[in-house]
Amino acid sequence: MSKRDYYEVLGVERGTDTKEIKKAYRRLAQKYHPDRNPDDDKAAEKFREVSEAYEILSDNEKRAAYDQFGHAGVDGQAGGFGAGGFGGAGAGGFSDIFGDVFGDIFGGGGGRRSPHAPQRGSDLRYNLELDLESAVAGTTVDIRVPRHVECSRCDGEGAEPGSTKETCPTCNGLGQVRMQQGFFAVQQTCPTCHGSGVHIKVPCHKCHGEGRVRETRTLSVKIPAGVDTGDRIRLNGEGESGINGGPPGDLYVQVAIKPHRIFQRDGKHLQCEVPINFVDAALGGELEVPTLDGRVKLKIPPETQTGKLFRLRGKGVKPVRGGPPGDLLCKVVVETPVNLSEDQKALLRQLQESLGGSNSAHHSPKKSGFFDGVKKFFEDMKP
Ligand SMILES: [Zn+2]
Ligand SMILES: [Zn+2]
Repeated sequence: MSKRDYYEVLGVERGTDTKEIKKAYRRLAQKYHPDRNPDDDKAAEKFREVSEAYEILSDNEKRAAYDQFGHAGVDGQAGGFGAGGFGGAGAGGFSDIFGDVFGDIFGGGGGRRSPHAPQRGSDLRYNLELDLESAVAGTTVDIRVPRHVECSRCDGEGAEPGSTKETCPTCNGLGQVRMQQGFFAVQQTCPTCHGSGVHIKVPCHKCHGEGRVRETRTLSVKIPAGVDTGDRIRLNGEGESGINGGPPGDLYVQVAIKPHRIFQRDGKHLQCEVPINFVDAALGGELEVPTLDGRVKLKIPPETQTGKLFRLRGKGVKPVRGGPPGDLLCKVVVETPVNLSEDQKALLRQLQESLGGSNSAHHSPKKSGFFDGVKKFFEDMKP
């Protein structure tokens, strides 16, 4: 495949200056960035192409070689973009390259920031409450996010279309002014342009010169199955729009799971309480217990004590980061019968008698053991 001309790729003239090249690159890179075009091979190819063109044309030496000898002059010099080298790079590779180049453009290296320098928009956070069922199964939710976006009327310039922007006459475009205070000269933000360095003659009617407007957008967010309280989902580029043409920030969806009527969640495991009557507890029986995907039968052995935990393997939550699902722990709680009739009370007294009174070591080992302990405790206290 023969390569396209780098200038053509970026859509700029041959003699164009570096600033224009950066501008063109930034616009195209944002458009074709893989984060914005997931699973789009064409966009990925375009992104690769513009990144390669930018890498050569933004470097004076490489650009001179390219101007003189064409592709032959720079082949193999575009680091990481050479044939084969790039195809294997995962999405992480894209991001790293993107971050490096943008860090460079946006003055990430430190030093004093020019008032005209593009600034990345702020990240936003959205708190999302989910019920347990949706969190376990995964879902798609529509959220409404109010944020600042680039003004469409002035393309973020802040000036009414057709009007001109001038260099601020107070600070000559520096955004800062020097004030003499006695012996000291103090640097201050320019009071006329508030640090932007430009004077807008006619502010945009829509954004009043700010270049951004507030807008509420509805976003459809895919929630992966298994998310838990504290998980964050990042939506690239869905934060506040940038300033001076900078890239937008990201939106973080912070997940919190609402309390459930039946289940308590502990990571990938679920827990629930199941009441049983004391006859079933004594004789054993079959219980119906709830799980997230319907009821299941649970066999209770005879002489089951209150508080006993039964583990249902694999009936918990499949973790969002992979791995086998957790378990469901059912805690049985023996319920004392209420609203007894006289006949039923008589039957219970009869039962108690047959058990050998209320403190039989044979039928109530725990209870008699406990009272033995109590007796010893009081005896030990005697002086
Ligand atoms: Zn100024
Ligand atoms: Zn505007």
